[in-house]
Amino acid sequence: MSRKVLIIGEVRDNSLRNVTFEAISAAKSVSDGGELVGVICGENNLEPLGNEMIQYGADRAIIIQNDKLKAYSSEGYSQAIYQVIDEESPEAIIMGHTAIGKDLTPKLASRLETGLISDAIEIDVVGENVVFTRPIYSGKAFEKKIITDGIIFATIRPNNIPPLERDESRQGTVSNLDVEISDLQTVIKDIIRKTTEGIDLSEAKVVIAGGRGVKNKEGFKPLYELAEVLGGAVGASRGACDADYCDYSLQIGQTGKVVTPDLYIACGISGAIQHLAGMSNSKIIVAINKDPEANIFNVADYGIVGDLFEVVPKLIEEIKQVKV
Ligand code: FAD
Repeated sequence: MSRKVLIIGEVRDNSLRNVTFEAISAAKSVSDGGELVGVICGENNLEPLGNEMIQYGADRAIIIQNDKLKAYSSEGYSQAIYQVIDEESPEAIIMGHTAIGKDLTPKLASRLETGLISDAIEIDVVGENVVFTRPIYSGKAFEKKIITDGIIFATIRPNNIPPLERDESRQGTVSNLDVEISDLQTVIKDIIRKTTEGIDLSEAKVVIAGGRGVKNKEGFKPLYELAEVLGGAVGASRGACDADYCDYSLQIGQTGKVVTPDLYIACGISGAIQHLAGMSNSKIIVAINKDPEANIFNVADYGIVGDLFEVVPKLIEEIKQVKV
């Protein structure tokens, strides 16, 4: 049964976030041969991004350019996207399970009076049903869910569903849609970034995370070096954030970011259950810890018992040699 699927894209710093391409790939499975329609909101200059969605597999793209959509607000974006849904009547909607996705999709789902499956990591089409797999109990178990009535609406966890290969010769229409947006009650004046420039932690393929074992702010330096040679991002445990070794925007875990990189290197992190909730679904976990009894070794694929200040520089040296 083919379905028309709407993919809500996400723009940051004038570029589409990688999870948008993963959402297109997820939408392709859900569509079962139906039409894939991308939608992106912003203030202006969205045409090239609409074309990029097409190159990654969308059949066409709708862009909504409005000065009230310059920065994300649930009020402005939900009004804009709702009008697209009203006009397009999709049978399914897919978006990334990002901070914006987590805020926007429940609001839309409630307005559409439909269910929402959040944080899906796998999609299977079984007969007439689209089955979404999502982690529960902090990643200790998985549940399979279907929506039997109404629009199929889901968010997908970044880094789990590979994007389709980009095809620059792919053609499709990018159309502008004028929408009515009422005066916003919340006006965003400025966005002040706390994270350092570079790879987005929740989308990084490699994450080097530091815990209380890094001892102080300086202790994060070798971790940044390792991240640089591996092309990754730096994260942290709450222990490290609470101790003011780094900013809370780096926190991974139950009350921080959830990451699923190909490689997660935990340095001086004990492996508390709340930390594991944010990283235990990483594809390969390497733990470096002085304490052979540390809980992190129970989830690690590779464990190194040792002082991170000796191990990390050696790793950097070895990796540099392999890369030459
Ligand atoms: P510690 O537990 O102190 O571990 C430090 C580790 O470093 C030890 O295992 C030690 O052996 C090792 N070490 C020390 N020196 C070295 C060295 N030189 N080389 C190698 N290893 C060394 N935590 C999170 O991370 N994320 C969350 O989202 C989160 N949410 C929470 C929510 C709630 C409601 C609560 C109650 C707690 C939450 N926590 C969270 C806190 C969590 O319970 C732990 O306290 C925290 O994860 C511990 O951080 P840590 O592993 O860095 O520190």
